[in-house]
Parts: sequence; structure tokens; C-alpha cells
Amino acid sequence: MASRRVEHLIIGAGTAGGAAARTLRDAGAEVLLVGRELDPPYHRPPITKGLLAGIETRESAFFAGLDGVELLTRTNVMALDTEARVATLQSKEEIEYGNALLATGAMIRRLNVDGAQLDGIHYLRALNNAESLRRDAESVEHVVCVGGSYIGCEVAATLTALGKRCTIVMLEAEPLERGFGARAGRWFRELLEGHGVEIVAESSVSGFAGSERVEAVQLDDGRSLPADLVVIGAGVQPDVMLARKSGLEIGDSGGIRCDATLRTSATGVYAAGDVCEYASPVHDGRHVRIEHEDHAERQGETAARNMLGAAEEHRVVPYFFSDLADWASLEYVGGTAQWDSERVEGSMEEGRFSVWYLEGDRVRGVLDVNGHGDLARGRDALSP
Ligand SMILES: Cc1cc2nc3c(=O)[nH]c(=O)nc-3n(C[C@H](O)[C@H](O)[C@H](O)COP(=O)(O)OP(=O)(O)OC[C@H]3O[C@@H](n4cnc5c(N)ncnc54)[C@H](O)[C@@H]3O)c2cc1C
Repeated sequence: MASRRVEHLIIGAGTAGGAAARTLRDAGAEVLLVGRELDPPYHRPPITKGLLAGIETRESAFFAGLDGVELLTRTNVMALDTEARVATLQSKEEIEYGNALLATGAMIRRLNVDGAQLDGIHYLRALNNAESLRRDAESVEHVVCVGGSYIGCEVAATLTALGKRCTIVMLEAEPLERGFGARAGRWFRELLEGHGVEIVAESSVSGFAGSERVEAVQLDDGRSLPADLVVIGAGVQPDVMLARKSGLEIGDSGGIRCDATLRTSATGVYAAGDVCEYASPVHDGRHVRIEHEDHAERQGETAARNMLGAAEEHRVVPYFFSDLADWASLEYVGGTAQWDSERVEGSMEEGRFSVWYLEGDRVRGVLDVNGHGDLARGRDALSP
């Protein structure tokens, strides 16, 4: 027998969960937001940028506008009975709900290689991770960032700007190539190298050497790179532990499978954010899963409106931003790595340009570097 009942239960107090709670609270609805972290909802992008650089504070990362939302932190939701509409918290307390939102985010992918347990090896997901990396980085010289995507490139840029010698080791030929292609990737490589970042491309890490603390990163081809500190950005996987246990349908990308209104396979249960694989009207109804901050926030809002009965499709064009120290800022609209040709506008030489990603004559994405100014046009072209 449940000890209490709430109209709207949100599981996961991150970006999507926070945005959903705010939307429900604004509508005057009763909402309970439950998250397993110590902190209230916060923005993760500063973890690799301003917080790591020491120019932003922990408090400035917290989500604004959650006054009046009932929030349980440090609380894991252990089980969800979607027939009875009851969630069980780790305290064993049972909560009956009218509608539930799963906004459980993603978990970092760990490298299981020799030496992975050595001190000085960092992953970044939570606020505390940025603080411990920053403290640890104070006294080191050589940093190796594993992974050529956003986390690896942003951290290498931030720590280089703080005076560290950074090397990026990656499987790809060019940094950020998976999202933006080889041509833009070459531009990012030149930018990073021009500021002193060393890039070791098409290389795989086989292990870490050291006695207690890491001293070197070992590569598959036998090379060894000196490292006083390592940051691993090897991607994430959607956190579907609770969803799977509750019998919700899981999609091809490993996320919770949803329709265009972000409804899961269980009545009254929605999903949003990194964990949500939805039939996207922007992508011709294909099921996609997107791991970006703004996308999570917008999906949280759509899910909340649908929990209130709107039955609205999530038609927002996904948007992403990233900064490489103060060397370059990039913004992107679109959201999936599927295109067969590219068109560059502006000047790559002068460092202000956009890349239009096309499939046939359909626009699939637009990358805007250093405010070239094409995002609105890109959004129009992508809107369903
Ligand atoms: C270091 C870093 C930098 C980033 N930088 C950028 C950037 O520059 N630009 C950009 O667009 N995106 C960026 N992102 C991505 C963006 O932050 C994510 O896409 C966004 O946080 C996803 O929001 P979410 O709500 O889906 O998941 P999360 O924010 O991860 O929140 C999910 C929450 O659910 C909790 N949870 C999971 N299971 C349970 C359970 N059973 N019970 C209770 N709680 C549970 C988790 O502990 C977590 O707190 C970055 C991400 C990271 C990690």
C-alpha cells in the first residue's frame, strides 16, 4: 500500500527532469522530483568549461526557477510498477503516481583496461568531478585526454589555457569528426594544434602505467605517452536500468523507446533527455536519441505539457553548443550523423563559417563556428 500519492512523479533530477518540474509547477500542478545525486538539478556544460577553468562557481551551474517544486535528492528510485502506477524509493517508501517521467540521463562509458584503477584518472559527469579534476590538475604538467569528441576536446582546450601540456588520444582521424565530418574536423585539429594541443589520431588506449598514480598512457601500437593526469571522454550510455527492470520497451540505440509525444510503452509513463529514443518528426519519424543540454530541457518541457494532457509531438529542432576555451565557439542544429555532402559558407581560413550537411538536397544539420550566423536559416530548413 503506497504511503502517498502524487499527480506527477519525475524520476531523475537533471536537465530534463528539472525542466519538466518547472513546467508542471508553472502550470500549478502537483509534482515530486526525485534524484539520486547530492545536488539539486544543475547544468553540466560548465563542468568542462567555466567550472574547470575556475571562472564559474558551482552555484552558478544550478537550475534557476525551481522554487516550490518538491525535490528529494540522494534518493534512488528502485522500482516502477507501471500497472499499479507505484514507484518504490530506496527507503522502501512507495509513491503512487498519476503520470511519471523517466529522465534518468546517461552513464559514462568506462575504459576497462590495465591500470584503469590508478589515481589521477578522471571521468566527467557530475559537478564534483569537475572540482576534483581542477584540484588534481593544479600540480601536474602532462595531461592526456582520451577521446576526440566534445569532452576530450573541451577539456584539452580548457587545461591548455590554464598552462598544462595536453595531448588528445583518439580513435578518429580528426577531432569532432563523428559529429561534424572530416573537413570541419581538420579545422578543429589545426585550431587545437595551433594552441599547443598534441593530437594522437587513429590510436587506441591499451592500458595505463604507474605504481599508485598514473604515469603513462599505453597505446595499442606499443607507444607510451607520459601522463601525470588522464581525463577520459569515451562516450555515455543511456541509463535504462530502472526502465528495463520496469519492462519498458528499449530501442535500437539502447534508450527508452517513445513515440513522437515522448510516451513510453507503458500508459502514463513518459521519457525525456539523454535516455529518450523518440520518433522524431524532425528526422522523418525515425527513432533518434540525442545527448545535448538544450534538447533535454526542451524535451522535459514537452513531456510535462503532455503529462498535463496536451498530446503534443516534440517538433523542436535539436540544438547544441560547445566552446573550446575562448579559441572557438560552435553551435549546431540538426542532431544526427547522417549526410552525404557538405557545403561550406563563410571563410574557414578566417575562422568564421558554417557547414551545411545535406542528404540529397535535404538539409540534415548546420554547424556554425564563431557566430557566422546561419542557425536561424538552418532551423527553418530543418523544421518539420
Ligand atoms: C561534462 C559534460 C559537459 C557537457 N557539455 C555540453 C555542452 O557544452 N553542450 C550541450 O549541449 N550538452 C552538453 N552536455 C550534455 C548535457 O549535459 C546532457 O545532454 C544533459 O545533461 C542530459 O540531461 P538529462 O536530464 O537527460 O540527464 P542528466 O542531466 O544526466 O540527469 C539524469 C539524472 O537522473 C538521475 N537518475 C538516474 N537514475 C535514477 C534513479 N533510478 N533514481 C533517481 N535518480 C536517477 C541521475 O543521477 C542524474 O542526476 C555535457 C555533458 C557533460 C557530462
